[in-house]
Amino acid sequence: DEELLALNKLSVDYKVKGGYLSAVKNVSFTINKGEIFAIVGESGCGKSTIAHSILRLLPEHNEIIKGNIFFNGEDLNDYTEKQLEEIRGREIGMIFQNPLDSLNPVYTTGFQVAEGIMLDNVSKEEAWNRVIKIYNDVKMPDAKKRALSFPHELSGGMRQRVMIAMMISRTPQLLIADEPTTALDVTIEAQILSIIKTLRDEFNTAVMLITHNFGLVAEVADKVAVMYAGEVVEQGTVFDIFDNPKHPYTRLLMKALPRRAKSEGRLQTIDGSVPRLTEIKSGCRFENRCPFVMDICKSKDPGRKVVTESHSFYCHLEGEVRNNE
Ligand code: ATP
Ligand code: SF4
Ligand code: MG
Repeated sequence: DEELLALNKLSVDYKVKGGYLSAVKNVSFTINKGEIFAIVGESGCGKSTIAHSILRLLPEHNEIIKGNIFFNGEDLNDYTEKQLEEIRGREIGMIFQNPLDSLNPVYTTGFQVAEGIMLDNVSKEEAWNRVIKIYNDVKMPDAKKRALSFPHELSGGMRQRVMIAMMISRTPQLLIADEPTTALDVTIEAQILSIIKTLRDEFNTAVMLITHNFGLVAEVADKVAVMYAGEVVEQGTVFDIFDNPKHPYTRLLMKALPRRAKSEGRLQTIDGSVPRLTEIKSGCRFENRCPFVMDICKSKDPGRKVVTESHSFYCHLEGEVRNNE
């Protein structure tokens, strides 16, 4: 498998009133070409922060980033703003949690898709024809009319289709999809997923799929990283995570999944609350909710445990999890 994106100990601290908030800590993972890699975790665990760090879209002067973000072997942190501009949209596309944030309100949606196409020296007329074709591909109702509509004139589902149309028009090597289906009804959700799969199958596009929805993960992902309070606590293939979870948090999540609903289960809540990310000390961040907590967990960061080449987790437990259940 050929490596496309590799995060190496990525940490992001936001500057907040009275100090820093540790939104992402020491996150490392690799996404190979053509792979669908899911990131799951509760609200606020740092998923969007990772996505935004990759494309350097974090609010400026408000954060400290440490670690490396390798894309095709080159560290994006070393890129100038201009070099990064070349990568955005063309090599790495992003579907945002809220498409209204990323669509320009004063241009028609068709124009915004055409703009990207014209960067490849395509004539205006040809670009417009392609926009209509792509709108039909993404099943935009009334494609010609919608291309001439402004973002606020479209429904949430239509706006997501515009975002996906933008992606398809550029055939990026990596598509970052941040909760692409949260606000959508199930039929549209299914269509959008099938478009994402098509992108992968036809163009070998890798996808970083950020979601709360384990059903989606089971359905489309190859690999999964489970995040908790800014850290990846476990990662592996879908099989590793669903059928052989090791980290206590992942195990609780899997237990909480309704029986039939590896196909439709949303992330369940579990007892206790997430630590305040402004007050984090050394030790396991899951310590106050973990049924297996030991003294060492409260003072020492857990190291990485390797289960197989594809599967690893971060915890102080030494294989006694099953016995304690
Ligand atoms: P959700 O599932 O709700 O989208 P998320 O996993 O994407 O959540 P992030 O948006 O990455 O989480 O946020 C991670 C943490 O960083 C949260 O505690 C959040 O409050 C905080 N945070 C996010 N953006 C900023 C910012 N610009 N300034 C300060 N703190 C921020
Ligand atoms: Fe639980 Fe300790 Fe493992 Fe954290 S390190 S998940 S507190 S056993
Ligand atoms: Mg988010």
